[in-house]
Amino acid sequence: MLDNDFKTFTIWEWINIEPKDGDDYISTVSRRIKIPKIVVAKTDVETRISRPKVSRIGVFIRDGFTCQYCGKRFSYKNLTIDHVIPRSRGGRTEWLNVVTSCISCNIKKGDRTPEEAKIELIKEPRLPMITILNIKEIELKFYPEWEPYILR
Ligand SMILES: [Zn+2]
Repeated sequence: MLDNDFKTFTIWEWINIEPKDGDDYISTVSRRIKIPKIVVAKTDVETRISRPKVSRIGVFIRDGFTCQYCGKRFSYKNLTIDHVIPRSRGGRTEWLNVVTSCISCNIKKGDRTPEEAKIELIKEPRLPMITILNIKEIELKFYPEWEPYILR
C-alpha cells in the first residue's frame, strides 16, 4: 500500500476529487474537499513553524514506535514514555529526556538512569523532525501513510 501508491496533484486538481466514504474532508459552501494526508511543500516551511510540544504520540513517532532500549517495534498501546533521567531526579519532560520504551524495558529500568539500570539507549533522544505536523492533530488520528516521511 505504501510503496508505489503515491501520486501528486496540484491544489487545483485536488479540489476536484470527490471525497469517498470514510475520507476526511472539509466543507465549503459549494463543495467538499478531501483532506490530503500528505502535502508536499515546494519551499521550506519548517523554519516558520514552531516545534511541537512533547506528547506521547509525538515521542513514539520520533522513535519510530521502537523501544529505545531493546530496539523492538511495538504498537501504540504497548509502548510507554520513559524519562531517561527519572522525574524523581529532576528529569524534565522534554524532547531530549524522553524516549519510547516498551513496558518490560520500562519496568526493568525503573526509577534509575540507564547507567544504573545497566541498560543502554540505542539512540540519544533528539528534537523531533516532524515540525510540520501539529501534534494535537496526530493525537486524534495517525495515518500509516505518514510513516515513510517520518525521519528517524
Ligand atoms: Zn524494550
